[in-house]
Amino acid sequence: MNTSDHVLSDKLHAVQARIEAACVASGRPAGSVQLLAVSKTFSADDVRQVAACGQRDFGENYIQEGVDKITALKGGAHVLVWHCIGPIQSNKTKLVAEHFNWAHTVDRLKIAQRLNDQRPAHFAPLNVCLQVNIDGGDTKSGLAPGDVLALAAEVAKLPRLVLRGLMTIPDPVEGFQPQVAVHAKARALFDEVKVVLDLPQFDTLSMGMTGDLEAAIHAGSTMVRVGTAIFGGRQYTV
Ligand SMILES: *Cc1c(COP(=O)(O)O)cnc(C)c1O
Repeated sequence: MNTSDHVLSDKLHAVQARIEAACVASGRPAGSVQLLAVSKTFSADDVRQVAACGQRDFGENYIQEGVDKITALKGGAHVLVWHCIGPIQSNKTKLVAEHFNWAHTVDRLKIAQRLNDQRPAHFAPLNVCLQVNIDGGDTKSGLAPGDVLALAAEVAKLPRLVLRGLMTIPDPVEGFQPQVAVHAKARALFDEVKVVLDLPQFDTLSMGMTGDLEAAIHAGSTMVRVGTAIFGGRQYTV
């Protein structure tokens, strides 16, 4: 390994330790929170190095960039699980349906229907989360909390999708308790949908990033999406 391999493995292990410590602090079982490594803007080679340390789930925001990496890493040493965590326009649903294992950002029936119709018949159903605008920022994507139950009921009927849970991207706030307060709203909504619809595979609450993963875990996150703390700062070229 060269120096940068060591840096990536050290950072991955540090994030795993943060997750474990947060589980202990919240009285949750170790292993009840999954780590999604967010590799947007980083190379297929960086992903390969993190995968060599045992990480299997990777998240991408920009669909074409994600598909390029998925294609580059196909047939490699490890089978990876790819999560689309960026906005999905209608003209990109086919790429998502044909390349990803998960889509976290479904917020309209039209997009869900297209993903369902375009999911290849010989693939496992696509895992889907509904994105919720939990803190009400008006420039943001995601469903209003009051619209979640109705869409969840429709998406659950689509045979080529499996509705796995909810996903949120709250605006950054300072301080543990204020962060917990926002994440707790998502947790309450998640619990409500789970009870009302009674779907056995509705088990995923995708929330928490580098800056707030402890608070998200405290509030009940089951999947944290971490980029910066693993791969370092991002440089956007567009
Ligand atoms: C970039 C991104 C992340 C990771 O954010 P970091 O702060 O770098 O950990 C998580 N979720 C989504 C939707 C993102 O776009």
